[in-house]
Amino acid sequence: MVVKEIIHKHLSYTSIPEFFDGEYWPSQIWYCLRKQYYSRISPIPMSLESKKFTTLGTIIHEFIAETLKKEESVRVESEVPVRIPHPNRHDVVISGRADDIIIVTVGKSRYVVEVKTIDDLESKRSYLPRKEHIAQLNLYLRAYPNSKGIILYVDRGSFEMEEFEISFNPDLFNETIKRVEMLHDYLIKRELPPPEAKENQDMKWQCDFCEYRAKCEKQISSNNNNKK
Ligand code: SF4
Repeated sequence: MVVKEIIHKHLSYTSIPEFFDGEYWPSQIWYCLRKQYYSRISPIPMSLESKKFTTLGTIIHEFIAETLKKEESVRVESEVPVRIPHPNRHDVVISGRADDIIIVTVGKSRYVVEVKTIDDLESKRSYLPRKEHIAQLNLYLRAYPNSKGIILYVDRGSFEMEEFEISFNPDLFNETIKRVEMLHDYLIKRELPPPEAKENQDMKWQCDFCEYRAKCEKQISSNNNNKK
């Protein structure tokens, strides 16, 4: 009980991340636009459940990076900085420390490995890799041209793994840039985006882990009442 309380106390301590106007993190761009808006305009700390979830992800990522480093023939870098200026707008940049990728160099070949932890890999195999994960890796492939991409899914419970090779896709890159522009414009205008994840079957799962769910649903019901 004593130990559990100490661990919970440390897990519960979360600082709210500081965002800079016009700077968008590669790992968040494919989150629901409304959630990203809330997290910048009226942020709340991460819940203990979400913190546990991300902590396990970090531990697995570190283990995989450390294990790869033991292989003599490969060079491994993790937590690398990424900066991709918007192709046309000087006020927008995709930037951040890429916590969930590992750069693996074998001879002249470079691999950008994105590690994603997942529950019950077996039951989810049929819809992997997820588009938002491909899009995130696609950004890193833009930052590391001529690299091969690998998404490595790791089951949090069984440690089963599945990997997918991904090549840079310019159309998907443009789609991601459009999302950044949309979010940027909503933020500048202080206009709440639609509840994107609720309206999109493939993104709906995000609502189950969203700290802003109560606020979002209150807003939806208030909008519905106003329409009556
Ligand atoms: S509850 Fe769902 S739709 Fe609403 S902000 Fe969160 S992720 Fe987006």
